[in-house]
Amino acid sequence: MTEGFGRVDGQLAVGGIAVERLAARVGSTPFFAYDRGLLAARVSAVRAALPTEINLSYAVKANPMPAVIQHMRGLVDGFDVASGAELRNALDTSMPASRVSFAGPGKSLAELTQAVAAGVTVELESEHEVTRVRAVSETLGVAARVALRVNPDFSVRGSGMRLGGGPQQFGIDSERIPAVLETLGDLDFQGFHVFAGSQNLNAESICEAQRKTVELILGFGVAVRYLNLGGGFGIPYSARDKPLDLAPIGENLAALVDGPIRAGLPEARVVVELGRYLVGEAGVYLTRVVDRKVSRGKTFLVVDGGLHHQLAASGNFGQVIRRNYPIAVANRIGSPATETATVVGCLCTPLDLLGDDVELPAAEIGDLVAVFQAGAYGLTASPTAFLSHPAPLEVLV
Ligand SMILES: *Cc1c(COP(=O)(O)O)cnc(C)c1O
Repeated sequence: MTEGFGRVDGQLAVGGIAVERLAARVGSTPFFAYDRGLLAARVSAVRAALPTEINLSYAVKANPMPAVIQHMRGLVDGFDVASGAELRNALDTSMPASRVSFAGPGKSLAELTQAVAAGVTVELESEHEVTRVRAVSETLGVAARVALRVNPDFSVRGSGMRLGGGPQQFGIDSERIPAVLETLGDLDFQGFHVFAGSQNLNAESICEAQRKTVELILGFGVAVRYLNLGGGFGIPYSARDKPLDLAPIGENLAALVDGPIRAGLPEARVVVELGRYLVGEAGVYLTRVVDRKVSRGKTFLVVDGGLHHQLAASGNFGQVIRRNYPIAVANRIGSPATETATVVGCLCTPLDLLGDDVELPAAEIGDLVAVFQAGAYGLTASPTAFLSHPAPLEVLV
C-alpha cells in the first residue's frame, strides 16, 4: 500500500520530494500530501483495464481540494459533485458542464438553481425533486438536464457501505420509474444513474451489480443518452484487505458494452464513477511526534495530529471494528522495525488512536509519522472543529 510513494535519502517521498523537505516547505505539521504522479498512474491503470467506451467520472467528494479537482480535470472525462460548493469548484475547471453530474438527496433550491443554470446533469433523487427541478426550469426558462437516480431492487454484496436496494434516501425506487418518466414534461432527460454501494473489494460482486444494473435499465424500455453504472471500487485499508482486481471488472464491462448496451442502449454514454479508488492511495497524512512515553511497558508515540484530521484511521469514534491503517515513520523508511509502538493523536480521548501496537523503527521526538490511504475521505470527512486545533494544510505535489 505504501510502495506507490517513492523514497529519497531514506525518507518517504511525495511527488519525488522527501517528506522533511516537504514539511519545511509547508511550514507546519500536520498536513496532507497528495501525489500528482500517483493520481495519474491510478487513472491510467483504470483506463487500461476498462473498455475505451467507458467514460470515467471522478466523484469529487472523495477529495474536493480545488487543486486536486483541477489536476483530475486533465485525467478523467467527467465529475460527479454532491454540493453547490463542489459544483462551483468543478465548474472552475475547464470541464464542460455537460460532463458534470450533481447527485445527492436534499439539494437546496439555490443548488438546484445553480445546477440548472449551469447546464450540469441533475440526478433526481426523489419524485418531489422532479417537481422542484421542473419549477426551477420554468423560472429560469431553461430545460434542466436531468437523469433519474434509481434505487435498484437489488443490493450489492461486499460493499463497505450500501447505497442501493431496500428502502433508501438515495434514488427513486425502480418500480416507480415508469410512472416518474411520465412526469418529466419538458425536462431534458438524459438517462439513469445507479450507485448501489461503496468500498467494495470483491470484483465479482461489482460485476454482478453492473450486469443487474444494465438489465434493470433495459427493462425500462426508454432510449437513453447517459447510463451511469456507479462504481464502488474499494481500496485496501488494513493488512487483511486484498486489493481489488480490475481485470474481471474490465472484462465484464466489455461484455456489457459489446452486448446488451450496444444492442439496447446504442446512444448511451456509459459512465463509471469513482472517488476513493482514484485518489485514496495517492494521499498521505503526515504528523510529527511530539512526545514519546512508556506507560507500564507500552510505548506510546504522541503526534501533533489525530482523529480530528484523519477520523477514519482512528476507527470513526469507535463505531466500527478498528484496524490499523498502514503507518510508517516517514523519515526512517529504510530502517528495520525494532519496536512495537502505539501511535496516538493529541486529543483528550482514548479514541484518538492512529496505530495500535505497530512494528516500527524506534521513533524519536521530532520524527514524522505517515498515515497512508489518506487521499480520500480524510480531511473533509473528519471533525476538524473537535478540540479546536488549527486546521491542517493540504499540498498537491
Ligand atoms: C460518494 C459517491 C461516489 C464515490 O464513492 P467512492 O466509494 O468514493 O468511489 C460515487 N457516486 C456517488 C453518487 C456518490 O455519492
